Amino acid sequence: MRNEALKQLVLETELRRALRADEFEVHYQPIVCIGSGHVVAVEALLRWLHPRLGILQPAAFLGTAEEIGLIVEIGKGVLRTACRQAMVWRQRGLPLRMSVNVSPRQFYCEDLHSSVAKTLYETGLPPHLLELELTENVIMQDRERASITMRALQQLGVGIAIDDFGTGYSSLEYIHSFPIDTLKIDRSFVRDVAKDRRGEAIARTIVLLGRELGLRVIAEGIETIEELSTLRDLGCDEFQGYLVSKPLDAGQCSLFLDERRSLTGEWPRGEPA
Ligand code: C2E
Ligand code: MG
Ligand code: MG
Repeated sequence: MRNEALKQLVLETELRRALRADEFEVHYQPIVCIGSGHVVAVEALLRWLHPRLGILQPAAFLGTAEEIGLIVEIGKGVLRTACRQAMVWRQRGLPLRMSVNVSPRQFYCEDLHSSVAKTLYETGLPPHLLELELTENVIMQDRERASITMRALQQLGVGIAIDDFGTGYSSLEYIHSFPIDTLKIDRSFVRDVAKDRRGEAIARTIVLLGRELGLRVIAEGIETIEELSTLRDLGCDEFQGYLVSKPLDAGQCSLFLDERRSLTGEWPRGEPA
């Protein structure tokens, strides 16, 4: 018990120090349109470049950052960095959609709407190139407030995606009453898709639901060709996963995008819807 409490305390202190020392970095995982093979978006994923421990994944520290509320400050930094990066790529002729995860504390923070608006204004990123990812649990925590905040974000022109769809506590009713643009099928269903018919049935149902409601459907965590071809046959719009690329830092991701561009030729004219 004492050991655990001590560890927690050290982590809290370290997190506060890391924020001051600017040790957080944003990595980007490409999201590909299944139909065209083009990279149409990236997801911003937080990393902690710890001076002694190396690169730490969110699972190691996100829970504590959320508990002590530091995620709000960290999240603002992620949003700013991600929007700036999206502008860099846009200015180089790659108008990619930037998808940013929002935690419960961040979502229910009084100034989410104004900090998103301020970030868009300061970076110059067109709102339709930003999408915020929420989980079902975040929305269900306080549906009334969630609805108000989501509508305000919609008014700004920012997209909203439901992350890890199907894994949370949810009611299907919220999907059609809330302003949602995208459903992201959780990796756990993608994994089962190639394995058994039940897995495929679940994925098929999610894709169908999304399509019927006019939502974009993205499959997360695609690792094999088999998974990709099954999800393509089911009618999924976009995918991300190790099959194409792991999350990369900004420099590596720029190189990846350039290589990919030279492979697939010119980008489609205009910006993705
Ligand atoms: P998520 O939003 O569902 O992100 C997808 C996770 O799946 C990422 O893990 C990504 O690296 C991993 N992934 C992608 N493709 C594959 C694959 O083919 N195979 C496998 N095994 N994994 C794959 P990561 O980066 O460790 O992030 C974990 C979670 O932490 C995220 O899940 C998200 O909920 C949270 N997170 C990450 N960055 C942020 C952030 O900036 N703010 C907040 N609030 N949460 C974040
Ligand atoms: Mg996500
Ligand atoms: Mg997810």
